[in-house]
Amino acid sequence: MQSSYAQTIACQCGHKSTTYGTEAKLTVYLAPILKNGTLQRYLQRSFIDRVEYRCDSCGTTKERPKIRRFLSTGDVVCVHISRVGPDYKKITANANIPLLLDLSKLVEEGNTESQVYELRSVVKHSGSANSGHYVACTVDPESRSGGWQFFNDSSDVRKHGDEKFALGTAMGSPFLCFFQRVRKE
Ligand SMILES: [Zn+2]
Repeated sequence: MQSSYAQTIACQCGHKSTTYGTEAKLTVYLAPILKNGTLQRYLQRSFIDRVEYRCDSCGTTKERPKIRRFLSTGDVVCVHISRVGPDYKKITANANIPLLLDLSKLVEEGNTESQVYELRSVVKHSGSANSGHYVACTVDPESRSGGWQFFNDSSDVRKHGDEKFALGTAMGSPFLCFFQRVRKE
């Protein structure tokens, strides 16, 4: 499930500094809120940061963009939607989560693997930023029409018709989204 990435800061002198890392989940911050923001756009924004950087080559210190790109992606990608606002209050805004997520713009050139992912399950959180309750929604493996199931503790398992419940705000806001790679034919 791990993805590996490179983070690069480029100086005007031509020098580039790259660091590498791995990640089990991708964190998307809903603060600040993007007008009509989609999960895809929030994710793209989280791959660009601005940092104070001192160049090892020419010694110049300046604020520069730090750009992250995947080197490899896992077959399952977990997107964690951080809903904590600057005031430490929970953000309940809709993150406009798609059923198909395309990571191809976030992947280093030359990677030929499919970067299209299908939503398979969602964990929702209700309550405040520091307490609350979780429920899970998953695609029903026995449904041929892509039906969804809903789990609320061990006592309450229900079948729902479609993904609208998983992605809506009934019983909480989507908090963890699990996407599975769609293999190329
Ligand atoms: Zn430089």
